[in-house]
Amino acid sequence: MSSVSPVQSDLLTQKSFRFDKASDGRDMAILKVLEIGNEVLSIAAGRVERITPRHRKLAENLIETMYSTPGSVGIAAPQVGVSESLFVLDVSGHKKTNICHGLIVLFNPEILAASEPTIIREGCMSVPHLTGDVRRASQVVARGIDLNGEERIIQTDAFEARGLLHEIDHLEGKLFIDRIDGPHALFKRKRYM
Ligand SMILES: [Zn+2]
Repeated sequence: MSSVSPVQSDLLTQKSFRFDKASDGRDMAILKVLEIGNEVLSIAAGRVERITPRHRKLAENLIETMYSTPGSVGIAAPQVGVSESLFVLDVSGHKKTNICHGLIVLFNPEILAASEPTIIREGCMSVPHLTGDVRRASQVVARGIDLNGEERIIQTDAFEARGLLHEIDHLEGKLFIDRIDGPHALFKRKRYM
């Protein structure tokens, strides 16, 4: 999930896979983010039965890709072409955040409980030119598996709840535009150059 940032759309249209240097000198991989129309975005991701070193590396790359994209607060594995049930999310410091768990890395997430929905504008790295008014629960309880293979239950609200639901949608092959009430709820992303 991404917030609506004026600079984001321009950065996202570069669509490049590239290597960068992390602040500690390590090489880090910034993954290419697939856009709407790519089949992987519209199919349900497979469950991860066992977390392998490949999954840890994928999680690390997703985290680096998320943090390297201004305005982005989450990304799911299908968005980089991997149809496996994994997402990363970090809404720390965002003005719409209330409860905050910091960096969340979750495999095979599922929603255990969700409150009545509210409608809020949101965007997505895979839909770079549009934002939409999307109805989602403002409080959720979700369960998944963390990087250590331990079960994790997350109870949250506000922006973090919306982020969780947005990312879980990606794992079910849904984009935010599949949840809007109609074309009137879609908006061109503003560009300031
Ligand atoms: Zn998204």
